[in-house]
Amino acid sequence: MSPQKVILVTGGSGLVGKAVQWVIENDTSEQFGKHADEEWVFLTSKDGDLRDAAATRAIFDKYKPTHVLHLAAMVGGLFKNMKYKLDFLRDNMLINDNVLHASFETNVQKVVSCLSTCVFPDNTSYPIDETMVHNGPPHESNFGYAHGKRMLDVYNHAYHEQYGRQYTSAIPTNVFGPYDNYSLEDAHVLPALTHKCYLAKKNNTPFVVSGTGKPLRQFIYSRDLARLFIWCLREYQEIDPIILSVGEEDEVSIKDVADAIVKALDFTGEYTFDTSKADGQYKKTASNAKLRKYLPDFKFTPFDVAVKESVEWFLDNYESLRK
Ligand code: NDP
Repeated sequence: MSPQKVILVTGGSGLVGKAVQWVIENDTSEQFGKHADEEWVFLTSKDGDLRDAAATRAIFDKYKPTHVLHLAAMVGGLFKNMKYKLDFLRDNMLINDNVLHASFETNVQKVVSCLSTCVFPDNTSYPIDETMVHNGPPHESNFGYAHGKRMLDVYNHAYHEQYGRQYTSAIPTNVFGPYDNYSLEDAHVLPALTHKCYLAKKNNTPFVVSGTGKPLRQFIYSRDLARLFIWCLREYQEIDPIILSVGEEDEVSIKDVADAIVKALDFTGEYTFDTSKADGQYKKTASNAKLRKYLPDFKFTPFDVAVKESVEWFLDNYESLRK
């Protein structure tokens, strides 16, 4: 059967985009693997700068997508977010405006965009759910990124209400996996600790984890998230966002994360917590009840197994990975 659906994945070279590509190429199930009538196109910034409207339109004219999985974004850790608030706001607003408008002008049937749990109000009740996105200002440390991302949901509703378009979004919790950013200054906690522990083992120095290790977080393995995005693209019909996360009961502490990394790297040296360093928010628990309503039987990869696979990928690709 010749492909009738062309699925364009923006941000195809990133942590999440690479995982979607892996699932499409390796999962043999009907539910998540590639369908015969689908052609998948994975974009990188080399295909064109999505901050540029003409470059974005040229990509859409070239590939003529019927569906778009919009993952591309300016992404970064806390320090970068605090320093470049305007860039995070403008770049993400430009990327999102261009991708959604090119989708509109070229009659793309469906767009699934990616938000982040950073969009939620700083001052909130727990667990966080999808109805709370616009209930108050986000944390001031990353308000540029958070507002840029929130606007995706506003756009989705506006395109739907004015033109009936099926543009929606999903909200992942903390993602990790192969192709992560392992920069010691700017990475998210799990890849940063992986790199730190690796160096401690290599240099025979202590592995020091910043903070008390007590804060709680929900982590999702990029390949699990990829399967859920593929499901969203094919099945999810709402305009409102859906949180893609493990359950509240699967929240782990930063100490659990460090323990899993120590085990996966077989690190036997001194391992301590620097309690003079800030912990950040104690918890940001999100509910996956909406996801469970749709996919009650979805099986997440056990956290230890996912960390082990990610650490193996890190070791195999140390020379070439982002660090
Ligand atoms: P990465 O930083 O790994 O990848 C970002 C992707 O976006 C890359 O493919 C990059 O291309 C592309 N990109 C960035 N700027 C541009 C641009 N101006 N024009 C074209 N392409 C661009 O990010 P993740 O995979 O981690 O993130 C994917 C999505 O998931 C994002 O929307 C992010 O906000 C969201 N998210 C991520 C979380 C996480 O924990 N990582 C948590 C919650 C949400 P290139 O490689 O060529 O630079």
